[in-house]
Amino acid sequence: MQTFRHWIDGTPRDAADGRWLEVFDPANAQPYAQVAAGGAAEVEAAVAAAQAAFPAWSALPHSERAQWLERLAAALEARTGEFAAAESRDGGKPIRLAREAEIPRAVSNLRFYAHAATQFASESHHGQAGLNYTLRQPLGPVAAISPWNLPLYLFTWKIAPALAAGNTVVAKPSEVTPATATMLGELCAQIGLPAGVLNIVHGLGPEVGAPLVAHPAIRAVSFTGSTAVGRGIAATCAPLLRKVSLELGGKNPTLIFADSDWREHLDLLVRSAFQNSGQICLCGSRILVERSIYAEVRDALVERAQALRVGEPDEETTALGPLVSQAHFAKVVAALERARAEGGRVLCGGAALERPGWYVAPTLLEGLGPDTASNREEIFGPVATLQPFDDDTHALALANASDYGLSASLWTRDLARAHRLAARLNVGMVWINTWLQRDLRTPFGGAGASGLGREGGVEALRFFTEAKNVGLHLG
Ligand code: NAD
Repeated sequence: MQTFRHWIDGTPRDAADGRWLEVFDPANAQPYAQVAAGGAAEVEAAVAAAQAAFPAWSALPHSERAQWLERLAAALEARTGEFAAAESRDGGKPIRLAREAEIPRAVSNLRFYAHAATQFASESHHGQAGLNYTLRQPLGPVAAISPWNLPLYLFTWKIAPALAAGNTVVAKPSEVTPATATMLGELCAQIGLPAGVLNIVHGLGPEVGAPLVAHPAIRAVSFTGSTAVGRGIAATCAPLLRKVSLELGGKNPTLIFADSDWREHLDLLVRSAFQNSGQICLCGSRILVERSIYAEVRDALVERAQALRVGEPDEETTALGPLVSQAHFAKVVAALERARAEGGRVLCGGAALERPGWYVAPTLLEGLGPDTASNREEIFGPVATLQPFDDDTHALALANASDYGLSASLWTRDLARAHRLAARLNVGMVWINTWLQRDLRTPFGGAGASGLGREGGVEALRFFTEAKNVGLHLG
């Protein structure tokens, strides 16, 4: 059994009261590791360490903090294979996806913010009578809480801008996938990052996340996870007037028009629904197709979905691995039963696979209206619905018939239409003839029930700093 410990004040720590949680291998449903179950005592120690480390860390020139992040990025990059294998085992992610996408993106997150922060210049306004300028100052100790679906990717997406901007961090990774955050703590030790700058407390959300969010010394909370937990965090932060950034669930529409090159894009269209077994907040789970091509597109998508290779996460040719946990598996299977009860027709998949581990077959459903729970609630598995639409107005109405508003992809050759619709979709991100095309300089986040605030580029640096205006009379 492997053991994942906390990382507090520059040292690994066992569970204070001797409590450990089991960590499972989703491919065989067996425990393979244990993670320290933290509580208020560890949160207290981690916040105290972050407070103590803050004056020296925030006083470093940007360029020196950038060098620390660069060193961490280089150390991580050198061990990409090892981190990818750990991520794949921990969360059931196909090894290629972990090695070619997730870990490299974690490296990029660290590098990007190392440099972005050095260019995050103060603004100044020089008038006849006076000079005004704005300082962007670090906040202090901040909290970063991340989910299991992209463990190291989202962990670094928060800690990199927080640290680069001069804050110290107490981070709580998901208890479901604690492996790579723990390994990153070890890399911090390897490069000699000053103690207390980054602290990692493992454990359950209510036992570690909740006291961390409410801790009086925490100056901001950056959270990625479910909408339900995000609402609770917002409620805790509101009376404290504490800055909060929430990246929450999604129920993203994919709009396919008759004039699109959909045949050429079939691979990407299928990937956008099923990548990481649909456990990416940006997956397109509501596929909307113009009626004149509906039957053709449906049949082609079903054929491709059935051809996806579902298999062991550590095999190179695996396209879809298992779902992350027993609890999540049960939720997805229940959603499939609900879809049938709502009158959904199963075009392919529709059930768990008869094999060890938490596998669900890639599933496409039709016959479900926009008001069904299947089309309104996030399932977060390899499950997508298909609905026909008649024209742009109808497509837009279906796309916007959701409380969520994270992303949308639309597929058409008519760029005027694409831009018109992009402006009217109630989402934070729109992709035209592509999916999940990211540039780290651009804002990332959702509208409505998908969140509050934006990450990425200067947005995260703004979030992790306080603006202070200074005015000087030149007379
Ligand atoms: P979750 O909300 O259950 O947990 C997320 C994190 O919050 C975990 O570390 C968990 O331990 C912690 N947590 C749980 N209860 C808490 C509490 N009361 N106080 C503080 N922290 C608490 O989400 P999950 O199941 O790990 O992740 C899946 C969800 O994340 C999906 O809804 C998905 O859409 C969303 N997600 C969103 C984005 C985005 O960028 N918008 C990205 C990835 C995942």
